Amino acid sequence: MRRAVFLDRDGVLNEPVVRDGRPHPPATADALVICEGALRAVQALREGGFALIVVSNQPDIARGTAAPAEVDAINERLRGLLPLDDVLVCPHDDADGCDCRKPKPGLLRRGARLHQIDLTRSYLVGDRWRDIEAGKAAGCTTIFIDRGYAERAPSAPDVRVASIAQAAEWIITHARNTMHVLDAATDPAAVSVSALKVKLFADGADLDGIAKLAADRSIAGFTTNPTLMHKAGIGDYEAFGRRALEIVGDRPISFEVFADEQAEMLRQARKLASWGENVYVKIPVSDTKAAPTDEVVRELTRDGVRLNVTALMTESQVRRVVDALAGTPGAYVSVFAGRIADTGRDPVPMMRRNVALCESQPNVELIWASPRELLNVFQADAAGVHVITATHDILAKLSLVGKDLAEYSLDTVKMFHRDAAAAGFTL
Ligand SMILES: [Mg+2]
Repeated sequence: MRRAVFLDRDGVLNEPVVRDGRPHPPATADALVICEGALRAVQALREGGFALIVVSNQPDIARGTAAPAEVDAINERLRGLLPLDDVLVCPHDDADGCDCRKPKPGLLRRGARLHQIDLTRSYLVGDRWRDIEAGKAAGCTTIFIDRGYAERAPSAPDVRVASIAQAAEWIITHARNTMHVLDAATDPAAVSVSALKVKLFADGADLDGIAKLAADRSIAGFTTNPTLMHKAGIGDYEAFGRRALEIVGDRPISFEVFADEQAEMLRQARKLASWGENVYVKIPVSDTKAAPTDEVVRELTRDGVRLNVTALMTESQVRRVVDALAGTPGAYVSVFAGRIADTGRDPVPMMRRNVALCESQPNVELIWASPRELLNVFQADAAGVHVITATHDILAKLSLVGKDLAEYSLDTVKMFHRDAAAAGFTL
């Protein structure tokens, strides 16, 4: 089953003829003018894997004010100008009592039958209330292009935009962000690690664990921090660092400075950087007195040191740090999405904005740090985050990705049974 974008015609793909504030179709094929940005929008949606189906009310046919052949000629010209899969027309007026005149969903349903479309995962783009109501009745996500007509507005479209270009952009982002959730609900096997674009880093300081993960080439890099090192009982920082470097080979690994004074931070950073080309030096976003470390970041970046600026939580911090990283040969900005989530805030939209901030500077990549669960890997991927660094415990759950849920349910039942038996409970 494919996904589709159902597109209204007049006012969505082509310029309407507006009289008294209300839109009308062009009278002839020659009068057809494609909306600005429509070709690019349609191409982007097509590349996104959507079937593109035009669903158009043409009541002027029933009213006798437009010849069916002229409507056909307009649609032929439209299909010549835009790569569309189908153009479906309702020629009726209200009095005909058909099931295809929008706001009825008949045209969308016909399109779904003809092209094997899953309506609930599809979109409708329209510029009038009839379009949006039809889209909703068919179970689609609806996008209203508000052209400011002097007529009733649709109630509660999923989003309101100003152009077909904005509509396409919104659909592509929305589809990407909901894909994993929907795939998991409808087809568990569709979720896979190999389809991920986000790079997986392993966050830990246990050398055995690092060695085990280093054997897995899907782990693209490694991070450590003083808290994890302390927990792992590490006493000799340099011995640990050099051993970890031997294990990870040429993959990036981050080691953090622990000084609080800027001069000492600089000294430690240069020392850590001297251990290897693939060392990223972690600099906290501020010192313990909340003074920003921007100057340290700037100076080390000027010297060509690769940094991983860490412990960020806010967008203003990201903006400042990305600015300080100008000219870096390669750097990471670690935003603690998990800690943000711990405060009851949704990190996903914030991380999406942070991606855009990082992309303003070449060679800067965003890390989703402190994930709380395996699902965060898929959320980070959908948000376009470059890297997620997860503890070894979370990475161990990668083996569960795409697991059949019925099978997993049975495993759970067996676990309860086994544990109850092991406990020797009686009632
Ligand atoms: Mg229209």
